[in-house]
Parts: sequence; structure tokens; C-alpha cells
Amino acid sequence: MKKILITGAAGFLGSHLCDRFIKEGYQVFGMDNFITGDFKNISHLADNPNFEFIDHDVTEFIDFKGDLDYILHFASPASPIDYLKIPIQTLKVGSLGTHNLLGLAKAKGARILIASTSEIYGDPLVHPQTEDYYGNVNTIGPRGVYDEAKRFQESITMAYHTFHGVETRIVRIFNTYGPRMRLNDGRVIPAFMGQALRGEDLTVFGDGSQTRSFCYVDDQVEGIYRLLLSDYSHPVNIGNPHEISIRDFAEEIIKLTGTTQKVIYKDLPVNDPMQRQPDITLAKKILGWEPKVDRAEGMKITFDYFKSLTEEELYKSEH
Ligand code: NAD
Ligand code: UDP
Repeated sequence: MKKILITGAAGFLGSHLCDRFIKEGYQVFGMDNFITGDFKNISHLADNPNFEFIDHDVTEFIDFKGDLDYILHFASPASPIDYLKIPIQTLKVGSLGTHNLLGLAKAKGARILIASTSEIYGDPLVHPQTEDYYGNVNTIGPRGVYDEAKRFQESITMAYHTFHGVETRIVRIFNTYGPRMRLNDGRVIPAFMGQALRGEDLTVFGDGSQTRSFCYVDDQVEGIYRLLLSDYSHPVNIGNPHEISIRDFAEEIIKLTGTTQKVIYKDLPVNDPMQRQPDITLAKKILGWEPKVDRAEGMKITFDYFKSLTEEELYKSEH
């Protein structure tokens, strides 16, 4: 049985990856310190003999006993309000945490895939974004703590590949959504759906002309799975190229949820990227991958998930 360590296991993407690798017949070790995650996301795996949970902060030395074939490093705050609230932890998990996991991969002879992001392109001047674009990031802006941690993460990963011969993979994830996102993480999909469910107006930041391209979680997991098992060590974009402005997206959510509330406009956060769309030519070519779930279908599944939350969860405020 192949053994895989997944960091960030109690988070949104990490928990879905645990499910997928268990389904594929792997022995899965999930690691998390719950800084933005929730045990609820993996509680269904608690009694599964092929799953073991390790409560650990990956910025501290990782003393893992036994063999490992693969590592997926997904631990990191991922939403803008999370990494603005815990900026130093964000920098540390992307840098020190990644260093520890690369060291572990080297010691165990394991292949490691790290979760990078479309944010390494910053507020992009090339559109859609191709992997050979170097990006436009403000190092000292509020989002810099995340963007630069992820840029460093890519650099140290390539260095371990080049200098130590570690088998590395780098996925650049574009905005991904689905069940198990945290209702209060501030990202636009939980924000709009939570507002609709609580009977509040939908908050569009800026004039809403900025764009995003939303990928359903099952498609993202399939892309990551294929990349891990491929022999390609340079970064690969995984995302859904179907782009929409945030203003139009708010209207879609109003229709989907049937809310009678309206859109209200708030200030655009500093350095909020104005456009974002993945060029997925490379993923299509080397992984034979492209997204299958369209936005209408994915949003419906996601809204059903948010509808299933308790009143307490719906009204829990973190800010
Ligand atoms: P999430 O916040 O739901 O999950 C992150 C998990 O990492 C949480 O469970 C958190 O507790 C854990 N964690 C954070 N710091 C840790 C530490 N020091 N030690 C151990 N565990 C720690 O976020 P997500 O959306 O699932 O994102 C997962 C990964 O994917 C992140 O690396 C993120 O940067 C990347 N990513 C996600 C998206 C997206 O759209 N969801 C886009 C680009 C990149
Ligand atoms: N956004 C918004 N209203 C909200 C939350 C977010 O208009 O209540 C906007 C945000 O300014 C950004 C887009 O939606 O332009 C996507 O934001 P998110 O935090 O989901 O992801 P990211 O900016 O990291 O792509």
C-alpha cells in the first residue's frame, strides 16, 4: 500500500485530497494544526484504518516514523482575510513549513507536490495567465505575505529538485470552491452564499468589474492527482478558464439562492487583482486534464452544502 502524507488535511482542499487518495487505495496520513481548518472536515475518516491524523504545526520539525512514498503540502491559510489576520504564520508555513517538508521528502525518498497559487502572478499584466509569466506582486502590500511565501515556496522546491534530486511537483491553483469551504473565511463564494442565507445584502468590493475564474473542487483534485503521478516538475496551472466579473457573479448567486436582497458596494481591498484566468494549455497537453463541472452545477452543490449547516454555524462570526 502506497503511503502519502497530506498537510492541511483538516482544510477545504486537504480534506478532499484525503478522501481521494483513500479511494485510490493509499494509506493516508493527514497533518494539521487547525489554524484555519476544522476537524469536522475529516471526522468521517476518524475510524478508517487507512487514515491516521497527526496534530502538528509543520513549521516545527516533523518527526515522521516509517516510510513515505508521497507528500502533498497543502497547509497554509488561503483566504485574504485569514492571511491578513495571521500574516507571520502565513509566511512561516510557506517558507519554514515547506523547508521541513522538502527535508522530509529528501530523507524518505518521497515525491512531493506543493500547493502554489495563481496569486504568484499578483495583479497580472498578462491575460490569461500562462506558466511562463513572472507575475506582478507588491512585496510589501497586504497580500505580499501570502504571495511572496508562495513564490519562495516554488523557489525552494525547485532548488531541492535541482540540488538534491528530490522528485517535486508544483501546482498553481486558481480559485477553487465546493463543500467544506469555511462559511466565514471571507472568500467571495462563502461570503455571498452566507449573506444570501442570512438575508443580508451581497457585498461586492470595488465596482465589481474585477474578474475571477472558479474551479469546482472535484476537477481541482483530479488535476492534482494527475500532476502528482506525472513526470513533470515545472509549475502547472490547474483551474477553470471560465471567467466572470464579480458583479455578474453576484447576480448569478442572487438567482441561484432566490434571495430578495440586493448588491451593495464596498471598498476594493488593496492590491486586489483586477483579472484572473488560467491558461490551461499545459495541463491539457501533459496531463490530458480539463475541468468537467460547469459553474451552475458546482455552485448548486456548494449552495446545498451551505444550506445544510446549522443556524449556529451560519451565524458564527469570526471578525
Ligand atoms: P484551508 O484554510 O481550508 O486549509 C488550509 C489548512 O492548512 C487548514 O486546515 C489549516 O489549519 C492548515 N494549516 C495552516 N497552517 C498550518 C501549519 N503551520 N501546520 C499545519 N497545518 C496548517 O485552505 P484551502 O483552500 O484548503 O487551501 C489549501 C492549500 O491550497 C493552501 O496551501 C492554499 O494556499 C492553496 N490554494 C488554495 C486555493 C483555493 O482556491 N482554495 C487557491 C490557491 C491555492
Ligand atoms: N469579493 C467581493 N465581496 C466579498 C468577498 C470578495 O466582492 O464579500 C471580491 C474580492 O475583492 C475579489 C473577488 O471577490 O475581487 C474574489 O475574492 P476571494 O477572496 O474569493 O479570492 P481572491 O481575491 O484571493 O481571488
